[in-house]
Amino acid sequence: MDKKLINEFEMMLGKDRVLSETEELLCYSYDATSKDFMPEVVVFPLNGEEISKIVKLCLKYNNTPIVGRGSGSGFSGGSLPLKGGVVVSFTKMNRILELDEENMFVTVEPGIINADLKSYLSEKGYFYPPDPASYEFSTIGGNVAESSGGPSAVKYGVTKDYVAALEVITGEGEIIYTGSKTVKNVSGYNLTQLFTGSEGTLGLFSKITLKILSKPEANSLILVSFNDINDGFNAAISLLKLRNRPSMLEFMDKSSIESVKSIFKSDIIKITGNFLFIIEADGSKEEVDKSIGEYKYILERFSPVFLFASEKSEDKKAIMDARKAISPSLRKYGDLKINNDIAVPINKIPDMLAFLEETSKKYKIPVINFGHFGDGNIHVNIMLDKNNAEMVEKGGKAKYDVLKKTVELDGSLSGEHGIGLEKKEFMKLKYDEYYISLLENIKKVFDPHNIINPGKIF
Ligand SMILES: Cc1cc2nc3c(=O)[nH]c(=O)nc-3n(C[C@H](O)[C@H](O)[C@H](O)COP(=O)(O)OP(=O)(O)OC[C@H]3O[C@@H](n4cnc5c(N)ncnc54)[C@H](O)[C@@H]3O)c2cc1C
Repeated sequence: MDKKLINEFEMMLGKDRVLSETEELLCYSYDATSKDFMPEVVVFPLNGEEISKIVKLCLKYNNTPIVGRGSGSGFSGGSLPLKGGVVVSFTKMNRILELDEENMFVTVEPGIINADLKSYLSEKGYFYPPDPASYEFSTIGGNVAESSGGPSAVKYGVTKDYVAALEVITGEGEIIYTGSKTVKNVSGYNLTQLFTGSEGTLGLFSKITLKILSKPEANSLILVSFNDINDGFNAAISLLKLRNRPSMLEFMDKSSIESVKSIFKSDIIKITGNFLFIIEADGSKEEVDKSIGEYKYILERFSPVFLFASEKSEDKKAIMDARKAISPSLRKYGDLKINNDIAVPINKIPDMLAFLEETSKKYKIPVINFGHFGDGNIHVNIMLDKNNAEMVEKGGKAKYDVLKKTVELDGSLSGEHGIGLEKKEFMKLKYDEYYISLLENIKKVFDPHNIINPGKIF
């Protein structure tokens, strides 16, 4: 990198908002994929105007690549500076700019942590639903770039359902404003939705306006398990058809039930059966009581082997602890995890789970699955010993088979983590050349010099 570019950054932002020493850069070289690529400089802008100037300087200095970074918790390599260059860290842009209580929108800077926004809104009686498991440390900017989601997606949707407007800096350093604080908005192409889930490849967000809801008053949980997967499947489908559908419908298949059983002990709940669900109802106290009664009535018709419902906080904690035990329980199967967050149409979940069991047997490697039933999002964990080359090779083949089957079932290569670096070679399984060329052309419109997060998605 031309040292003059670093000098210009220092003149513009001040030395304390520019990092270029190796030991400082290391902290911005990795994400949750455990891969690493060193940036050459990290800058900390405070607003869109500064980001615009950063982009224009990068264009002036040989089209230096720029990668936006929130908390670096991505699972697809989105924030990795694959080609070196500049990392734009959003950690200093973490303010809440406006709470519009009449229209029910909040406008924030992209570096705010999801949990901080949730608790700010909660104190005022409002609710921002998207809840990736990383909500305590991931940023809203990262959430928008990946259109992140979590358990509440079954009732409330994912990030894309809440983004109303954006301030974005394009690959030419232009500042554009998309969307509005209206529910109805048909005025040209919907660029807000195009940027949401664009994995940081089309532009850098500097302001984000999100729709908010009133906070639900209460919630209750049910843990239920079935021996017959078809009973479990049919019970869950019946719950989804209700007008008061669950606000969480998480599942564990046989493989993850066995895995959790080995480490999780509780006097309150039993981890048993071959298909297990954790179900939540939320709303007013009366709505929750009514929903739980209705859910239990339906579930009991499908012969569960264990059913436990509670609104008490210690019981709810025990239920959620069982869910949280999945990840630590996987460690005994190996020190290398290939984590696939595929999504299939809900009615294809049993086919996919059967295929995953076959894949585990075919390659003689553990494949442990759990996920969000209501959106068909299955977390497939292929567990490997990283020092066993033969096993690692089989893991790669298993990943290919799983993604191919996902496409055959009309599913998505990624439900929530994105394509990034991790799945770009598999895009051809899903899309033909013409489709991929359309995506490339869209990128060129916003980033004609290919400087914003180059080398990702395709
Ligand atoms: C333990 C754990 C659990 C997780 N659980 C979930 C889950 O349940 N659901 C889920 O969806 N994900 C989950 N994730 C993945 C990850 O947390 C999400 O993708 C999250 O949205 C990333 O946010 P971040 O701030 O860490 O972004 P980063 O990882 O820093 O960046 C992610 C992408 O966003 C881009 N980006 C960041 N800020 C901006 C900006 N202002 N403008 C433009 N682009 C930007 C980056 O360039 C990159 O491409 C999990 C990760 C971990 C480690």
